[in-house]
Amino acid sequence: DFEDIFGDFSGIFDSFFGGNRRRTSGTRTTARRGADLRYDLEIEFNEAVFGTTKEISYRRNAVCGVCQGTGAAGGAGKTMCPSCSGSGQVRRSSGFFSIATTCPQCHGEGYIIKDPCRECRGAGVVEKRRVIKVSIPAGMEDGRRIHIPDQGDGGMNGGPAGDLYVYIHVRPHEYFKRSGNDIYCMIPIGITQASLGGEVLVPTIDNKTVKVKIPAGTQTGKVLRLKGEGVPYLNNNSRRGDMYIEIMVEVPEKLTPRAKALLKELSEQINENPSPQLRRLSS
Ligand SMILES: [Zn+2]
Ligand SMILES: [Zn+2]
Repeated sequence: DFEDIFGDFSGIFDSFFGGNRRRTSGTRTTARRGADLRYDLEIEFNEAVFGTTKEISYRRNAVCGVCQGTGAAGGAGKTMCPSCSGSGQVRRSSGFFSIATTCPQCHGEGYIIKDPCRECRGAGVVEKRRVIKVSIPAGMEDGRRIHIPDQGDGGMNGGPAGDLYVYIHVRPHEYFKRSGNDIYCMIPIGITQASLGGEVLVPTIDNKTVKVKIPAGTQTGKVLRLKGEGVPYLNNNSRRGDMYIEIMVEVPEKLTPRAKALLKELSEQINENPSPQLRRLSS
C-alpha cells in the first residue's frame, strides 16, 4: 500500500505527536486504538530501483502480557471511581457557584483500576523493541511511504493496534539521476568521436555495459535515448523507463607535438572562423 507523504497526513498527525501515545496514570479503562508510528528509512539509489528487503528495529508499546492489556493486577478489573461515583465529574463550589469539572482521579472515565498491574503500572502496554523485515519493491521512489498495518503501538484495554508507516528516503547516486522511471547521465566523448561518429561503451544502472552509437557531427548537449534501460515500474516490474545520455564533447588538453600539428592542419582544412557570429543563449 503506497501513498505519498501528503496523502492523509493530517489524519495521523495527532497520534504521531502525543495523542494517545501519552501514558496516563493507569486509570483509563476504555478500549483505545494504538498510535500509528513513523519510521524513516534511508536506502541506496540502486535498492530503490531494483527493490530490497530491509530489517528495521524500533520501539513500540506492546500489549502487556501480564494483564493482557487490562492494566489490572490479578484479574481485579475495574471498579467504580470513589471520587465521582462513576459520573466522571466532580462538583466544586466557588462562592455561590458550583462548577462541574472532570474527575481528577478517573479522568472522566467513571472507573478506576484499584490494583494496577505491576508490569505495566496499569497502562496495559509496555514499551518493547520490535525487529521486522520491510520489503521495498523495485521502482520505489524517494518520499513515498510503506504502510504496514498493525505494527504500530498496541491498543489499550483490548483496542486494535496502530499502523506503522515507513518513510523512504533514497540516497543520491554519484552519476545517475532519476526522474520518475527514467534515468539520466552524462558521458564525455572525444572531438573526433563527436565529429566522425562511432561507438562508445556506457555503463547502465544494472552494471551492464551497452554499446551506444554516436552519430557523426554530435554536439555537446545532445541527448541519446536507450529504451528500457531505466527504472522498473512500481506496479509492473516487467516494464521499465528509459535511460537518457547527455553527450559532453571533451576537448583534448595535453597534446603531443604531432597531435598539435595534426590539429593545426585540421583547422585549415575545415576553415575555422576567426570572427564567429553571435548565437542566442539557451535559457
Ligand atoms: Zn500489565
Ligand atoms: Zn472519577
